[in-house]
This record gives sequence, C-alpha cells and structure tokens, in this order.
Amino acid sequence: MNKVYMDNAATTRLSEVSMKATIDAMENVYGNPSSMHGLGHQAAKALREARQVVADILNGDKDEVYFTSGGSEADNWAIRGAAYLGKKKGKTHLITTNFEHHAVLHTMAALEKEGFTVTYIPVDEKGMITSEQVKDAITDETALVSIMTANNEIGSILPVKEIGAICKDKGVLFHTDAVQALGHIPMDVKDMSIDMLSASGHKFNGPKGVGVLYIRKGIRLPNLIEGGAQERGRRAGTENVPAIIGMAAALKDASDNMEKENARLSKMRDRLIEGILKMPYTRINGSLESRLPGNVNACFEGIEGEALLLSLDFVGICGSSGSACTSGSLDPSHVLLAIGLPHEIAHGSLRLSLGKYNTEDEVDYVLDKLPGIVERLRDMSPVWEKMMKGDK
Ligand SMILES: *Cc1c(COP(=O)(O)O)cnc(C)c1O
Repeated sequence: MNKVYMDNAATTRLSEVSMKATIDAMENVYGNPSSMHGLGHQAAKALREARQVVADILNGDKDEVYFTSGGSEADNWAIRGAAYLGKKKGKTHLITTNFEHHAVLHTMAALEKEGFTVTYIPVDEKGMITSEQVKDAITDETALVSIMTANNEIGSILPVKEIGAICKDKGVLFHTDAVQALGHIPMDVKDMSIDMLSASGHKFNGPKGVGVLYIRKGIRLPNLIEGGAQERGRRAGTENVPAIIGMAAALKDASDNMEKENARLSKMRDRLIEGILKMPYTRINGSLESRLPGNVNACFEGIEGEALLLSLDFVGICGSSGSACTSGSLDPSHVLLAIGLPHEIAHGSLRLSLGKYNTEDEVDYVLDKLPGIVERLRDMSPVWEKMMKGDK
C-alpha cells in the first residue's frame, strides 16, 4: 500500500482540474493584471472569471470577493477590520467561541491587548454552540461576531444560518471562518446572512497560499495590506494569478461533485468510527449528528497521540494529533480541552480527515493496522498499566 493520506483537514492534494488550470496559467497567463497591454488584459480577464466562479458558489456578487494569501490572512483582515470599524462608533466588544482556529483566537488576543473586550462562547461536549448563546452575548457595544462554520479538529458544524439571522436582526457584523466548510458543505452568504466569510484554496484541493475573503457590499473594512490598487484598492500586492485560477477551478470541481462525494466520504468516515469504537477505551470527539463528512477524531486512553502518529506513519498512514499548527508543542489541543476532555485523555487523540483521493481499500487498511498498534502502545504504557490496575 502506498501512503494513505488521511490528513486532509491540514491540507489537500491538488485536484487534477486545479493542477491543469494552475500550470496552464503559470505557462500562459503571466502578464500583470494591472498592465495596459494585451497580456495584462488577458490576466485581468482570467482574474475576473475566477472571481465570478467564487461569487456564484457563495451566492454573492463578484465585487464582494477579495483574494488573499490564504485563510489566516482572511481571518486577520475580517476581524481586525471589523474591530477598527466598530471602534469608530464606540463599539469595542467582540464575540467568538473558545474553539476557533488560532488565526481567529490569536487575532482576538492581540485585539484584547489593544483594549477590545472579547467574549469566548464555550462550546459544549460535542463541540457545538446554540444561537441563543450568541444572542445572549450580544450587547450594545458589540462590533463583531466571528464564529467558524465547521471546526478543523473535530468537524462539528455550527448553526451558522441561525447565528447569522440573529446578528442581522441585532445589526451586528457577522464573520465566519468557513475554511473547513467551503467546497465541502453548501455555503450561501445570503441565505445564511453572512457579512464576511474566510476560505482557503488548499483545503479544497486547490493550491496553497491563496484564499478568499468575502465582504458584503457596503462594509467599508479598513485595509490590512497597503500598497497598490489591486483588489479594488483594498488588498495591495500583485495577484497570485495562477493560484487564484487554480483555486477557482478546484472550488468549482468540489462544488459540482459535492453531493456524490459527501455520500462517499461519510460512508468511509462512519466505517472508521465504527471500527474505532469497537476497540476498548476509545471515544469519538465531536458531534455525530452535525459533522463534516470527512472528519474522524478519536481518543485512545492510555497512549500518547504523538506515539500513535509515529507508529501509523511507520506503516504509511498519515494522520494528525491535535491540529498541524500545534503539533510540536506538548500542550494538548485547545479544541479537545474546550469540549471538556481532561489533559491526559486529550493527549491520546488522533484525527483522520478523509478527502477526494481516499478509497474504501485505504479504510480497510487503517482498520486492519490500527487496533494492533494501539494494543502494542498500551502494552508499553505506564499510564495504561496504572489505569488497568485501578480498574481491578
Ligand atoms: C487551515 C485553516 C485556516 C488557515 O488557513 P491557511 O490558508 O492555512 O492560512 C483557518 N481556519 C481554519 C478553520 C482552517 O482549517
């Protein structure tokens, strides 16, 4: 068996259509879209077309789509921008959850140092919040609500449409980090009353280093990056034309095939979940009802997530423990702590995230290898030994 890549929440392999579109643009669409000659016009036209593709999929207008360097930049821009916009009107309160991506949480923390106050809505044991919690948190001072559509670690899908309706009703700006959602589950900025939405190319089989911030018309978000007049004067820097074209192609491909693909992924996901739960002292993290089709996140008591990852890697299985951004640190994931897991259990976590290139055969392979690996690691684990003694 070749490498079994089940780390699609960290990043994905380029889809074939995206690869073709990206390479073709690198070869042929090399003009600067701001240039006043034929090759420049050709690049500007390709950019316009890509913008239209993204706008159509979001159900927005092409003038509401801004290309960025990725999801992190989009999150930073939306949150900082909305905070500064609010401050002008004396509104310095921000609302988010305690299990967002660090691009959101660290931006919030930076704004706290600048004098903003932030309410971190606690998620429940399934990684869910209710729209009521958001409603209760909003005050006259609230400038922004920023709540992710789907969580990158445990895959829970939040009630964004209800949250959007409440924000609209209260006249508060609503941003959602939809990096794990766009291209995977249906998103509609009008139906969901979304003012700003972040997305990233490499999470839906597009290129890395390119993303989108959707900004609803009429929101005069201050610029994050100053310079030239690109992106209608609001995000400077020569556009990454090949990556943008590749991202639009990937998004269109993902959207066109979403329904069929999600049926395929959720079947594989459920087989993995079932197989893991057959093993003793395991649990699945996150909601079983409102969950991304490709997300499996499990805890194996008595073992370390890092040891499990190394053993899996040894047999060619690529998974993750916590999020890619925090691996390398010994702290357990803030998401698993947010859903109330004790430190020692949160340490033994494994995320397997499925995507476009995974097959049923690969699921069989993982289900064949995983129980033996877990058993062997437990046999060597002093924590496990203590646990078993305590049981008797
Ligand atoms: C990956 C990810 C990001 C960051 O996106 P980049 O394009 O890697 O900067 C932000 N939010 C979530 C939920 C993510 O999964």
